[in-house]
Formats: sequence, C-alpha cells, structure tokens
Amino acid sequence: MSKHERLSGLPARPVISNGRRDAIIIGAGAAGLSTAYRLNRLGLSVRVLDRSDRVATPWRGRHPQLHLNTHRQLSHLPGLAMPRSAGPFPDRDTVIRYLEDYARFIGVPVEFGVDVRRIDENDEGWMVTTSNGVLATSHVVVASGRESIPFIPDWPGRAGFAGTVVHAADFGDIRQYRGKRVLVVGAGNSGTDLLNHLVKADLRSLHVSVRHGPSVAPGRILGMPLQRVAPMLEMLPARVADWFLDETERVAFGRLSRYGLPRHPMGPVTRMHEQGVTLAVDDGFIAALKLGRVTIVRAVDRFDETGVTMTDGLRIEPDVVIAATGYRTGLEPVLGHLGVLDSAGVPLVNGGETLGHCKGLWFIGMRPSLSGFFRAADRDSRKIAAGIRKDLAGRKRSGNAAQRSSIPAPSP
Ligand SMILES: Cc1cc2nc3c(=O)[nH]c(=O)nc-3n(C[C@H](O)[C@H](O)[C@H](O)COP(=O)(O)OP(=O)(O)OC[C@H]3O[C@@H](n4cnc5c(N)ncnc54)[C@H](O)[C@@H]3O)c2cc1C
Repeated sequence: MSKHERLSGLPARPVISNGRRDAIIIGAGAAGLSTAYRLNRLGLSVRVLDRSDRVATPWRGRHPQLHLNTHRQLSHLPGLAMPRSAGPFPDRDTVIRYLEDYARFIGVPVEFGVDVRRIDENDEGWMVTTSNGVLATSHVVVASGRESIPFIPDWPGRAGFAGTVVHAADFGDIRQYRGKRVLVVGAGNSGTDLLNHLVKADLRSLHVSVRHGPSVAPGRILGMPLQRVAPMLEMLPARVADWFLDETERVAFGRLSRYGLPRHPMGPVTRMHEQGVTLAVDDGFIAALKLGRVTIVRAVDRFDETGVTMTDGLRIEPDVVIAATGYRTGLEPVLGHLGVLDSAGVPLVNGGETLGHCKGLWFIGMRPSLSGFFRAADRDSRKIAAGIRKDLAGRKRSGNAAQRSSIPAPSP
C-alpha cells in the first residue's frame, strides 16, 4: 500500500495531471476565480476544479429577492468592473451573470464536476485526490467557500415537529410564506436579510429567536450607502471601528434593547474577528420591529409536535421555522488530518498567510470582513499570487544553484 493510500484511505489512482501545474485551485466561486486570474497574469500554470456543474452554483440556489448588501464598487473582482447598470446593490441574477462573465474573462478553463476529496503532502508538494483521480502540484489554493454546508442545530424534538423547518439557504420565494406563522431563528447577517423581506410579506405572525441582539447597520445614512466607508473602517483599530458602528446604530435606530434586542457584549468588529459573525444590514426589519409587527423571543430550547419552546419557557406554534443558524466549511474530510482547521472546521489561516508545517497550502474566502467577501477576494488573491510566485522563484533559484554545484569545475 502506498503512503497516499495509507493516508487517505482511498484507492491510489494514476496521477492524471497532464503536466504538473504550479497551482491547483479548489472552487470556482469569487475567491477561486480571482486567484486563477492573478496566477494566470503572472504566467503561472493553474488548474481550477469545481464539483458543481457550472459557475455561480451557490448564488443560483440563493433566494430570488436577494441583493448584495455590499456596494457594487466594492463587489467586483480583479480586472473586471461591475457594470453601472447593476445599481448600487446588485441583485442575485446580476451577480450570477457577473460571475459567468468573469469566468470567461479570466481565460482559465474551469474543470467542473471534479470533487476534491482529500489533500495530502508529499516530498515534492501536494497530492490532490479528486473524484477523477489524483493530481500533483506545488501549491494548492482552497477556495471552496465558507458557506459550503448549511448548519441547523440539533434541537431536541425537531424530528417530531409537524411544521416545516428550512435553513436560510433554502428560503426560496417569499410568496410561499404568505398567511403563515413564521419563526426565524437567528438575526445575524442572513437572518436580518430574510427579515428585511419577511416584514414586507403578508404573514400571520413573525417571531425572531435571538440569544443577543445583532449589531445592525443601516443600509444608508444621510442617503449615502454606509457600506462605502467600510474600507476606511477596516484601517482603524477594532475598538475604534466598534465605537463608530455602535454609535451609528444608536443614532440610526435608538436603543434596540427597548425592543427586545439586547446589545451583544462584543463590539461588531471584534465579534467579526473573534467569532466570524458579520454585521447585519437593515432594510425594513427594525422599522417593523418598532411598529410591533415582529416579536422577539429567546433562544430555542426544544421542539414538540406542534410548537417550539424557548429557553424562558415561552411556547409558540409556528407553521414554518427558518434556521438562519450559519454554515460550515465542510473541509474536515479533505483537510482535517493536516492540523490546519479550528474546532469549527474553519482554516486557521487565510489570504497571504501560510502555516509553517503546510507550506504551499493557501486559503481564500474563509474570513468575513466589513467590506465584504468580494473585496476580500480581490485583496487576498493578490497576496496569494505574490506568495506563490515568490516560492516558485525561490525553488527555481535553489534548483539552478544545485545544478551549478553538480557541474564539475573545469580543471585548471
Ligand atoms: C445569502 C448570502 C448573501 C451574501 N451576500 C454577500 C454580499 O452582499 N457581499 C459579499 O461580499 N458577500 C456576500 N456573501 C458571501 C458570499 O458567499 C461570497 O460573497 C462569495 O459568494 C463566496 O465566494 P467563494 O468563492 O468564497 O465561495 P463560493 O461562492 O461558495 O464558491 C465555492 C465553490 O467551491 C466549490 N467547492 C466546494 N467544495 C469543493 C470540493 N470539495 N471540490 C471541488 N469544488 C468544491 C463549490 O461548488 C463552489 O462553486 C453572501 C453569502 C450568503 C450566503
């Protein structure tokens, strides 16, 4: 049994790489495509693998009402602007078209239908085990998405609940909720996005279960999209940016604790860094809350056949429970054995950082930022491309030096 078979538990297959590439990128979303563009521009050979059958698959599954909450000018990828016609906050279909255009623009073909199952290190670099065989490369860029797998907590009694439980990822068309009693669990970034839409639908009732209040930013302040100051806030120390966003929330909405949303003990930027939770953006939810059209309830304790009981004993009977309870990366089977993931399966490094024991393994799209994932993909792809180029140049220099030292010196 080969070392690879032993490590992966998978049968060894022939290496199908027709010529070793400088880098293999896993995932053809915003992060993977940006990195492919950068590496290609540097003249490096790159292979992009994606398990889905076409570009922008995660965006196609998102609900049709969705608009970016990041401004158009902060949501384009390197080398290709988003058209002005996309408006300040492009809608889902515009994002899909943009990603399709971008995939054509970068000039690197994506290999669709290739599922990466495991990554192992060997003496010469990395072995990438895929559904089509094993590929060898010097560098691997993991761009498989931070929101790969919808996560729903294992609530007691949920299996016996006669109503519907859906994850926010499967929210679908808003019209299906008309006339229903809806409970949204979680009011983070995606929960608040759904609430912004649900408050405009004709529901029988709307409850929101929260452990603490989210940090909420208004979409615009004095007519200007607040998101446009995000790059500036990112340059400030976290506690200063926390203060600015807390004050903005207070000025825009007043004290939300009066409406049942107690302030989180951490400031929004500190929380984003420490817990990976992004700021929620309001577009109608808070006004509806103040009008009494939304009821805040405590965290979910358990389900029974017809209802849900909260931690304070309150019981309600929703028809639909929407779990806006986050996502997982799903990277454990692929990378869990390498010591590069934290206990939640999130990579320990991202962007230009690498771990000393895993040189040549890069991650992108794994950290939230105030200015959004698209802008982070633009910035981090540049750092990764520079890191890969530097490493390959170093290898070339030491290869040349080794070659020179093995040439016998001419006799005097
Ligand atoms: C509801 C919602 C709204 C959002 N709104 C915004 C916004 O307004 N602004 C913003 O900046 N960000 C937003 N985001 C974040 C958004 O996910 C990112 O902007 C972006 O789509 C992430 O791109 P990505 O390339 O990192 O990952 P993805 O788009 O998830 O792409 C990852 C790709 O990797 C592939 N893949 C995964 N695992 C494997 C594997 N093992 N083998 C092969 N291929 C694999 C997948 O098929 C997929 O195509 C939003 C997210 C959600 C859920």
